[in-house]
Amino acid sequence: NDEIFKNVISHAKEYGFVFQSSEIYDGLSAVYDYGQLGAELKNNIKQYWWKSMVQLNENIVGIDSAIFMHPKIWKASGHVDGFNDPMIDNKDSKKRYRADQLLEDKIARYEKDGKTDKANDLQKEMDLALNDDNLPRLKELIIDHEIVCPVSGTRNWTDVRQFNLMFSTQMGAMAEGSDEVYLRPETAQGIFVNFLNVQKSGRMKIPFGIAQIGKAFRNEVIARQFIMRMREFEQMELQFFVKPGTEMEWYNKWKESRLKWHLALGTNPAKYRFHDHTKLAHYANAAVDIEYEFPFGFKEVEGIHSRTDFDLKQHQEFSGKKMQFFDPEINQSYVPYVVETSIGVDRFFLLTLINAYEEQDLSTEDKKDSRTVLRLHPVLAPYKAAILPLTKKDGLPEKAREIMNSLKLDFNITYDEKDSIGKRYRRQDAIGTPFCITVDHQSLEDNTVTIRHRDSMEQERVAIADLDRIIANLVSW
Ligand code: ATP
Repeated sequence: NDEIFKNVISHAKEYGFVFQSSEIYDGLSAVYDYGQLGAELKNNIKQYWWKSMVQLNENIVGIDSAIFMHPKIWKASGHVDGFNDPMIDNKDSKKRYRADQLLEDKIARYEKDGKTDKANDLQKEMDLALNDDNLPRLKELIIDHEIVCPVSGTRNWTDVRQFNLMFSTQMGAMAEGSDEVYLRPETAQGIFVNFLNVQKSGRMKIPFGIAQIGKAFRNEVIARQFIMRMREFEQMELQFFVKPGTEMEWYNKWKESRLKWHLALGTNPAKYRFHDHTKLAHYANAAVDIEYEFPFGFKEVEGIHSRTDFDLKQHQEFSGKKMQFFDPEINQSYVPYVVETSIGVDRFFLLTLINAYEEQDLSTEDKKDSRTVLRLHPVLAPYKAAILPLTKKDGLPEKAREIMNSLKLDFNITYDEKDSIGKRYRRQDAIGTPFCITVDHQSLEDNTVTIRHRDSMEQERVAIADLDRIIANLVSW
């Protein structure tokens, strides 16, 4: 599993999906850049989400709010006082860790060594301490279980302290001398503070939703597992406003509907599970994670939370503006309840790569052969088709370019004439291009080409005039 994960990471770099940020300066921890194919895949993921959430739902609209917001918003939301991770430093290595992560690693170690009782006990103790924000107890557990620093190997720990995950910066010329602003740690608050603007200008009636895709920033203490946990990342969030008392109905509806969204992309259902939260955040009355089995275990990709009227009420109190909806059916005003679905673009990108990545042995009795293929859903694939002239002469490249020009307004198409046709097929397999269109000498005579399908590697001969319709069919959803 570690091996596969390593291969996926190097594949992502080799083919221009993901690069370490600032690589020539030795990188910036937990920050990544998307390369030429990564940007396409990421855009396709966002489009698939936007289309299915916003454009296919009459009662959902999308916005794009600013990253900077009034600092009071983060007071109201609870982030200034409560968006913390417990951290601890090792005095010898000067390295900083998340206290709960050190304990979780220890629990995993106990489990690996077959010490299930010890693992369960420690898990319980840790949950209790986290629930009570009992920082001295977390340190006690680290000492009692003889946890050593992975770098220095010593047990010379500081006390456990809370570490706020929000990045802050200065904004010029703000009133009252308070010029500190935050980089938003979630996109949700941009939706809540625009609730009335959208409701009124869009004449929205409850139940309705506001969706948003955008960057979020968290100063994560630990940076691990590639683009799983980043300091700058992107979220796709829906806040769905409902009548109080109906929230559980909507919560269950969104829970099912979001899982369907994942599975519609052909991801393996056996890799998914729901994880219901027993410990609820202060604003929630129900919460569930959609988890995917990554090579390093089941991890959250998406959260669905019933957030009650917490956020709107807080903004009502802190801003002094009423955040109510007048419901003509019951002739009453109320502060709506909210059901949220929140998924990380980057985490879903990683899921998509891992799910699609396959090393296949194609050896026959007389010949060794293999390929690496990204079995991406055609909707997500960076290129929908590759146009390949069989040879570089006899007018084949010209014919191929002509076909390319007739298709490229409708689809993202790539062209390749370098190396043998077999090598070119492999290259397209490796980046997930679902169809290769090969132009050969027969094409010049009868205006037909072959289409090779990435997954089955089967080929069929079709008329050039039909290509547009055929590709549209194959990449539609
Ligand atoms: P975690 O427990 O993994 O830190 P979270 O519960 O804090 O996640 P939420 O605040 O619910 O996450 O955010 C919603 C989604 O945003 C997550 O399901 C995840 O996909 C994504 N996300 C959160 N933090 C990060 C991060 N640091 N890097 C990449 N994606 C993230």
